[in-house]
Amino acid sequence: MTLDIILPPKCLNCSARVDSAQNICPDCWKKLHFLSGPKCSCCGYPFEIELANDFRDLGENLCAACQKKERAFDRAVSALRYDDDSRKMVIGFKHHDKPEFAGYFTKLMLQAGKELFENADLIMPVPLHKHRQFSRRYNQSALLSRNLAKALSLKHDPKILVRIKNTPPQQGNLKRRAKNVIGAFKVVPERKNDIKNKNILLIDDVYTTGATTENCAKALKKAGAQKVFVLTVYRVVSPYDPN
Ligand SMILES: [Zn+2]
Ligand SMILES: [Zn+2]
Repeated sequence: MTLDIILPPKCLNCSARVDSAQNICPDCWKKLHFLSGPKCSCCGYPFEIELANDFRDLGENLCAACQKKERAFDRAVSALRYDDDSRKMVIGFKHHDKPEFAGYFTKLMLQAGKELFENADLIMPVPLHKHRQFSRRYNQSALLSRNLAKALSLKHDPKILVRIKNTPPQQGNLKRRAKNVIGAFKVVPERKNDIKNKNILLIDDVYTTGATTENCAKALKKAGAQKVFVLTVYRVVSPYDPN
């Protein structure tokens, strides 16, 4: 409170004056693209885009990619579309010291993920490899999952799922990166009992190809988890590629 009087709150994104702390200004708000319309009932792919490409299957309510191949996770939801306007915010959050975004993103995730919360038993983040976390100082997904767990009164445990392969984040094309995360995660053997028959809510900042969440979900289910729901701040929306 006192701090607000001394330092007027600034937009998290552009530093313009705003009314309340941990918020963004109306101009930046206009640039956010919410994914609240019709979407694939499994991976959350927004159907506006699919319709344009005539890929929608009205009966199944699944996007073309999910119809072709069953996913290891049960449902994925994202708050915002990842595009040029959102890139700056994500990069600020991910790579620079801007953990204050976490509070704002948590609010958006609480709104977007309502359909996932009721049946979730346990929240955890997509883990970073221990070397990466050291160089970045914090795991942004763990900040989000901790905030969400608190807001939802759910159990948070970031130490059950671990990353055993350190995959460089920006190397290679999307397909190569998708390949790199195969077998990259595992459940700590002594912790298997903690997820047995439990529904897990997995948190990440960006859903890109779905390969990361797919491989986390595989590891969790192999270790006995019942369902895996995925909630991310952003989702990359690229046209369906049947190859
Ligand atoms: Zn702004
Ligand atoms: Zn889908």
